[in-house]
Amino acid sequence: MSEAPVLQPESGHAEHFDVLIVGAGISGVGGAVHLKSRLPGKSFVILENQDGFGGTWKTHTYPGIRSDSDLYTFGYRFKPWTGAPIASAEAILDYMGEVIDEYGIEPHIRYRHTVLTASWSSEDRVWTLVARRGDTGEEVMFTCNFLWMCQGYYRHSTGYTPEWPGMDRYQGRIVHPQTWPDDLDYEDKTVLVIGSGATAATLVPAMADKTKHITMLQRSPTYFAPGENRNELADSLRELDIPEEWIHEIVRRRILHDMKEITRRSFEEPETLKQELIAGARAFLGEEFDVEKHFTPSYRPWQQRLAFVPEGDLFQGIAAGKASVVTDEIDTFTETGVRTRSGEQLDADIIVTATGFNLCMFGDIDFDVDGEPVDFADTVTWRGMMFTGVPNMLWVFGYLRTSWTMRADLISDFVCKLLEHMEARGVDVVTPTLRPEDEGMERRNWVSEENFNAGYLLRGMHLLPKQGTKLPWLHTQDYYFDKEDIPNADLDDGSLVYRARQKARKAL
Ligand SMILES: Cc1cc2nc3c(=O)[nH]c(=O)nc-3n(C[C@H](O)[C@H](O)[C@H](O)COP(=O)(O)OP(=O)(O)OC[C@H]3O[C@@H](n4cnc5c(N)ncnc54)[C@H](O)[C@@H]3O)c2cc1C
Repeated sequence: MSEAPVLQPESGHAEHFDVLIVGAGISGVGGAVHLKSRLPGKSFVILENQDGFGGTWKTHTYPGIRSDSDLYTFGYRFKPWTGAPIASAEAILDYMGEVIDEYGIEPHIRYRHTVLTASWSSEDRVWTLVARRGDTGEEVMFTCNFLWMCQGYYRHSTGYTPEWPGMDRYQGRIVHPQTWPDDLDYEDKTVLVIGSGATAATLVPAMADKTKHITMLQRSPTYFAPGENRNELADSLRELDIPEEWIHEIVRRRILHDMKEITRRSFEEPETLKQELIAGARAFLGEEFDVEKHFTPSYRPWQQRLAFVPEGDLFQGIAAGKASVVTDEIDTFTETGVRTRSGEQLDADIIVTATGFNLCMFGDIDFDVDGEPVDFADTVTWRGMMFTGVPNMLWVFGYLRTSWTMRADLISDFVCKLLEHMEARGVDVVTPTLRPEDEGMERRNWVSEENFNAGYLLRGMHLLPKQGTKLPWLHTQDYYFDKEDIPNADLDDGSLVYRARQKARKAL
């Protein structure tokens, strides 16, 4: 299929598509597959800022970059995963590449297209998007009937680095994992990694063999689940020559069942679960090591996704003396490293700030509806995917505990169902709208802070849409609830206001 020419906004022309997807990460590519398979008559395009697909897995190139959840559930429902459960970015990109080939998605993707603005016109019943091309710098225009936002949740261009006193006098190199320099030579260097999330837990063992020494400096500990990077059930089923499609489905169900049990236990018996997780670290580190101080978090397990540590590699590195962990706060940067609150000087040639993301609402795109700027923080979400007063637009925000893609798949089904429903009803505009009985409903944060305490979410919560206290205005982040609720959502309960299709679409 040849690509349609891109026309300039100045010419007054725009390319039109039934559906426009922003982002060619795992959500956008998955969405395209669902759309193409279920609604082959719909024209669509994916606009992607980077020069390739993959999103998160393309952006991050730091040593050891890997998933922290298993690929049986992080992979798509429709494409069996056949590798080790915890996968490298490279393996995830290969997997996505196969999906793109198998489903003929490539011709639909426009790389190096950064969407800048999105404007809804009630008169024309279309979104108009202006995108800047990275190759030519030109601004180009697209219109679409339905806008499917798969732009992720954080700013890809820069990571989050707190401002610490004295940073400017530090003589070494400061690096953020999200913008890892190709030329960074850490052989025989002393490296300090600030942070203790999944990224730090990946970086430390991946760099430890080459560095002179590597230290993980954490303000507070995180839970890690060490284990072999294999799935016993999958291995057994393979021995029996069970087809990969079946293995994928069975193993997904097993993992989801086990995760549900962990979730239940995190609420009902947090202390026992906590002790089990800490025992996992102790088994590698031995009785002499101060597990109490360095690997005993103060929060309840499962308030963040539990990061698997394949073969306990983080702990192995520490036990072998190649890596160490310091639990303390930074008082100041010095010329040669960092001084902690307790007065310890940690010298380093390189400091890696594994301190997280900047939450990015809707890809830094300026939205307006009929000329009125949209402030998403003022909207209420419809099941965590659409927003009051914003017509024909949907956002994929995946799960924070269960694998992200489990929700992306559910939402993709939903988009197809909604578009089919609109077709059948003879309508072409859908706008989530509070019903009379919803007026005055309490507005709550996008996610419950009690349940999810990730720093980037807490820092950016005020920018996110609100949820209500009852369906359809809830965003539960609960796969087990959503898998029943989303497919059975009532599309005619009055919370989705439709407009009947009128004349043929105005020529643009
Ligand atoms: C290092 C790391 C490891 C992770 N590991 C896991 C894991 O193991 N399991 C899990 O469930 N989750 C994990 N996550 C969360 C992860 O981001 C998501 O699971 C998932 O990859 C997000 O996919 P996405 O397609 O929704 O968004 P992204 O991967 O963020 O992709 C969004 C795409 O949209 C593009 N885009 C954004 N704005 C614009 C714009 N204005 N115009 C054009 N294009 C735009 C971006 O360039 C990007 O390519 C991890 C995150 C990180 C950073």
